Amino acid sequence: MNEYINKVLTEVEKKNINEPEYLQAVREVLCSVEHLVEKHPEYEKLAILERMVEPERIISFRVPWVNDNGEVIVNRGYRIQFSSLIGPYKGGLRFHPTVNQSIMKFLGFEQIFTNALTGLPIGGGKGGSDFDPKGKSDNEIMRFCQSFMTELYRHIGQDVDVPAGDIGVGGREIGYLFGQYKRIKDAYEGGVLTGKSVCYGGSLGRTEATGYGLIFYTREMLKAHNESLTGKTVTISGSGNVAIYACEKAQEYGANVVAMSDSNGCIYDKNGIDITLIKQIKEVERGRIKDYLKVHPDAEYMIREDEDSPIWNIKADIALPCATQNEVTLNSAKKLVNNGLLAIAEGANMPCKQEATDYFLEHGVLVGPAKAANAGGVATSAIEMSQNSMRYYYNFNEVIEKLDCIMVNIFNACKDNAEKYGCSGNYVAGANLAAFEKLAEAMKCQGVV
Ligand code: NDP
Repeated sequence: MNEYINKVLTEVEKKNINEPEYLQAVREVLCSVEHLVEKHPEYEKLAILERMVEPERIISFRVPWVNDNGEVIVNRGYRIQFSSLIGPYKGGLRFHPTVNQSIMKFLGFEQIFTNALTGLPIGGGKGGSDFDPKGKSDNEIMRFCQSFMTELYRHIGQDVDVPAGDIGVGGREIGYLFGQYKRIKDAYEGGVLTGKSVCYGGSLGRTEATGYGLIFYTREMLKAHNESLTGKTVTISGSGNVAIYACEKAQEYGANVVAMSDSNGCIYDKNGIDITLIKQIKEVERGRIKDYLKVHPDAEYMIREDEDSPIWNIKADIALPCATQNEVTLNSAKKLVNNGLLAIAEGANMPCKQEATDYFLEHGVLVGPAKAANAGGVATSAIEMSQNSMRYYYNFNEVIEKLDCIMVNIFNACKDNAEKYGCSGNYVAGANLAAFEKLAEAMKCQGVV
């Protein structure tokens, strides 16, 4: 490996020894930009790599709140302001018990590349808390969100840092967060959060954007290899925001989506997933995916017993991991390949372990990397910000057309950069190269800051 990259990696490993997810994300990027770094000897002199892997700011704070039993609970909140090179920090908030600094940093790091690929003026950030929203009442969720925002508000702003949703943070949570921000600031700053409900300044199409964008990217990737979604068997992990709208759009393109999951297990319905029912279970009742069998007793339910989700044992042409990081292990990758997998496109952030990605690429599977394939969400958030600034709103079709166009451009950037640097068809490397070069050039322009 290139000496400069090796030196930076060794230093990052030393400094972040207890942050495995963060190290995984950094390794993946740095190992794929070797040719670019060799072409630019000035990167070393300007410490471009060292600056790229060090967040501008890490904020960690206490979030005390009172549950319905009157008990005081203390959670930890984070905001990683990773890079403001090309725009205000931008990235979601995750509420999940597994949240820690390593996960926040890996997500913030990935976000700067995703955002660069959109071509829109947004920097990268991420935040969240180890708060577990599962089983909490609406009032508990509201009190938690209000306490979280009571600290976060001083670090964000529509030109500074613009959070949005992620795992465990959807329209309900964004509403409570926005209400508290507005109350503290005594001003309506519409662009401070995205993923808002349409009734108070959100964008049409934002809810659908990440899932739809994933399918637009997949469509382009397949098209480049004379394939299409029509008639393909698809499995989608997760049953949250990204998974639901990926399923909806894949079905519109004539794919047969046969399985979805949650953290407890997966359902297999060979007749095709009833997405209206999934929406009812997950978006309205906030239930478990197992409840699907109450309406469709012919479907099968498989419990998840270890780190390998049973969903990846199901034969599929296309796999769309849309739940969480590292959900596709090498073992799962082998099963998918044995079953004839044609393509995998990542809706979730870093859902494949590095060994799994390598295995897919070695076996000729098309891989749509998360940084590119799930960029539709943040791209539409940027469209939401621009509508908030203009004080003028697009209709649904206008937003989806812009999203489609952005996803086509992103795929083309991945394809062109892969070809330019001699790894044609490797869209993982193509995405990293395209985004890295843009960010490095911006760094060069702005001096040592
Ligand atoms: P949601 O909270 O709406 O849904 C998450 C889904 O993933 C749920 O079905 C959940 O199951 C499952 N899940 C979460 N954690 C785990 C886990 N540790 N093991 C197994 N399953 C798990 O989140 P989103 O759909 O918004 O996000 C999903 C992924 O997409 C994340 O990686 C996120 O970073 C990424 N993403 C999201 C964007 C967005 O716009 N929302 C934009 C770009 C990327 P359960 O209910 O059982 O917890």
